[in-house]
Amino acid sequence: MSAKKQKSYALEVTLVVLAIVCAFVTQTVIKNANPPEVENIPTGDKVAIEEFLAEAQGVEETVIKKEDAVPREYHPHLSDLASEPDWTQLDQFQYTISREDFERELEEVYTINGKWKDWVTTTDESALIRMSAADGTKLYELFFASEVKNERPPKYWRNRDELIVQEPNKPLLGLRIVIDPGHIGGKYAKVEEREFFHKDSPPVKEGNLTLKVAKLLAKQLETLGAQVTLTREYLKPVNNKRTEDYHHFAYSKLRKKNLWATPLSITKASEKLFYRKGEIRERAKHINNDYRPDLVLCLHFNAGSKSEELIQDEHFHMILNGAYMDGEVAKDDQRFMMMQRVLQRIHPEEARLSAYAADAFTAHTGLKPYQYDPNSKRALNVDKNPYLWARNLAANRSYLCPVVFYEPYLMNGADSHARIMQGDYEGLRYLNGMLRPSIFREYVNAVTDGLVTYYANRK
Ligand SMILES: [Zn+2]
Repeated sequence: MSAKKQKSYALEVTLVVLAIVCAFVTQTVIKNANPPEVENIPTGDKVAIEEFLAEAQGVEETVIKKEDAVPREYHPHLSDLASEPDWTQLDQFQYTISREDFERELEEVYTINGKWKDWVTTTDESALIRMSAADGTKLYELFFASEVKNERPPKYWRNRDELIVQEPNKPLLGLRIVIDPGHIGGKYAKVEEREFFHKDSPPVKEGNLTLKVAKLLAKQLETLGAQVTLTREYLKPVNNKRTEDYHHFAYSKLRKKNLWATPLSITKASEKLFYRKGEIRERAKHINNDYRPDLVLCLHFNAGSKSEELIQDEHFHMILNGAYMDGEVAKDDQRFMMMQRVLQRIHPEEARLSAYAADAFTAHTGLKPYQYDPNSKRALNVDKNPYLWARNLAANRSYLCPVVFYEPYLMNGADSHARIMQGDYEGLRYLNGMLRPSIFREYVNAVTDGLVTYYANRK
């Protein structure tokens, strides 16, 4: 770098730092200012917001059926877009779990540092679970099983030993699998921030890559006897709502969180609600009500921290549901879902399945494990397996069955980026010093091997 360039670079850095400081100070001032009551917004802005919201209302009323409508109010004790849980759904689990099993899962899998105890008190007979964060007197009493019964808890999915059919040539016969290609891709890749550019190469869009793997994988799993459904088959959202449909909810959320509501901030918040929260909720609705599979395969490609340069060290890990953060256990709907997962015994099956899946994946790819901070407040290692980590994601929480969640490769990794640029091909090609299958087929074969090995080992 020349001295002149260095100087202008230093100036640029200074300006960027200054801009960040300014933005931070402005945000802090705004946050600490009085809540932006409608009366405090200058008249022009108030009219603008009202017009802006009125436009959205028109869309909502004409396109969306009433029962599918987006809630208009944000509730601080519920996750975005969630409705109040119906705790009587836990009635069917009375006397089905021992105190020991119940406490162990909450302690070792679902929360960090014993945080579940803020919400659940246990005696030898029962657990008292807080139903409402707003009202500490509302408690649900769940009675423990006094003796260990081998009864099947009520659930739509079947674990490995509950599958009856066996045929040597079709090791996955009768297994109901949903493949969930992560993200949306296509023209949505930009707004969902799952798009990567390296110099002049074509953009890499995660939602496109996962769909490619999903389609190849579905074919292969079907030949092995599985019944396979994809949550999406196109580069389009499953969610039939759009950003405008979330404007009212976004406005309500910004106001209740004392954040500045402007057409821009409402639009930004609505975009997230559309492509992330709303999209996952829609997929979950289909999975839990229509498809009711034995397991869901969530397919992703990871990405390293953003930089122009490609990253050399790539890695792989699998994410199991667990490690709810304090604020998450405090949401009534998330606490309720956590209980459903504990009572349906989802974790033990998810953990066994994921361990086989990780073994097969690393055998095919040689990727080393991704390591979270051991003191992380959002991730917990599972069974001392370096590849398995518990994290509470919308997808692995709201799909009410074992979820096998793959987070391999780096889209901006030097090796994977070169392989992605090759596209899909049959057989092997000489690449980065080795004969390699296409990255898509490697992914497909690694997932298939994990499932076949796991289900071939059934009783
Ligand atoms: Zn992803």
